[in-house]
Amino acid sequence: MFSSTVRSGCLRQTNITKYCSGILKRLNSTLIVAEHDNEKLLPITLNAATAAAQIGGDITCIVAGTGCSQVAAEAGKIPGVNKVILADSEELKGFLPESVTPVLMAAQEQFKFTHVVAGASAFGKSVLPRLAAKLDVAPVSDITEVKSADTFVRTIYAGNAIQTVKVPESVKVITVRGTSFAPAETDGGSATVENAPAPSGKNELSSFVGQEIHKSDRPELAGAKSVVSGGRGLKSGDNFKLLYDLADKMNAAVGASRAAVDAGYVPNDMQVGQTGKIVAPELYIAVGISGAIQHLAGMKDSKVIVAINKDPEAPIFQVADFGLVADLFKAVPEMTEMLSK
Ligand SMILES: Cc1cc2nc3c(=O)[nH]c(=O)nc-3n(C[C@H](O)[C@H](O)[C@H](O)COP(=O)(O)OP(=O)(O)OC[C@H]3O[C@@H](n4cnc5c(N)ncnc54)[C@H](O)[C@@H]3O)c2cc1C
Repeated sequence: MFSSTVRSGCLRQTNITKYCSGILKRLNSTLIVAEHDNEKLLPITLNAATAAAQIGGDITCIVAGTGCSQVAAEAGKIPGVNKVILADSEELKGFLPESVTPVLMAAQEQFKFTHVVAGASAFGKSVLPRLAAKLDVAPVSDITEVKSADTFVRTIYAGNAIQTVKVPESVKVITVRGTSFAPAETDGGSATVENAPAPSGKNELSSFVGQEIHKSDRPELAGAKSVVSGGRGLKSGDNFKLLYDLADKMNAAVGASRAAVDAGYVPNDMQVGQTGKIVAPELYIAVGISGAIQHLAGMKDSKVIVAINKDPEAPIFQVADFGLVADLFKAVPEMTEMLSK
């Protein structure tokens, strides 16, 4: 009798907890800050949308840019997005954080979101900390898991430790690691699009002059199934042609270590690592890369890692599934030739 009373008490308690967390989820309202190029959404927005869905509650997506109404329509098709806010203005050219933040502040003042979410990309990493500072809250960067609406998992020490953080802030400003959340569907939603409230201020700090975008027919680095990356061992930008040839045979993206970027061999949007892009492809081939922890932080979640290095003691071999101790200038052309047969 006693134990059954206790059991039914526990049951009631469980039901109340479930009921309350259901209500709390409904009370959440998340703003996804879309990343796009004024023509289409960039894939990381879909990963951020999945994280937003896991937080629960209403989801709004804000599209801020110049001549970007078709992006707003695209965002409206993401299942689970209830509303799209469109801020279309010449002032937003170049997506400068000093211009985008007043738009987000105005939306936040009007709609009082409980969460603001963006991808942990160069864009998200430049805009969201600024927004958090303006809102006087601590941002939560690069989350890899949503435990609940206020508890998130993220990595520290270049990915060598994992921490779970409970966030007491009234507005949780979060960037999301793209490789840790599956992309949301791109069809099935039917959100309404409305114009954004007027920005809460003007950007008097910076102005957009122009940009040179590195164009490539190869898959986008962050979402590619296979990546071939080169390091300082390549010795020059011209020698990266060896990797482009190999990558083209495999429909792979080409990445690089920071040393290769800093040496000017390749543009910095190819950098993989702690201060570059985080990738987790099916296959990662590291060529002439030593395997510094800052590089590993960006690729060690790859399913299969292949390392080609002439130094058998190179740390990259500790994380590699397959290692080839060889001169890359001999091994890479041989691989390309074999794939050509
Ligand atoms: C705060 C901070 C952030 C950083 N962020 C990043 C980051 O995001 N990404 C990143 O990559 N690094 C980052 N770094 C730099 C990092 O510490 C390393 O310096 C860098 O990754 C080294 O690049 P690498 O492996 O190409 O060069 P090296 O360490 O010089 O290695 C070159 C390798 O090439 C091999 N090699 C040479 N010739 C040949 C050949 N002919 N055939 C085969 N192998 C050959 C060598 O044996 C060697 O192992 C960061 C550092 C700091 C302090």
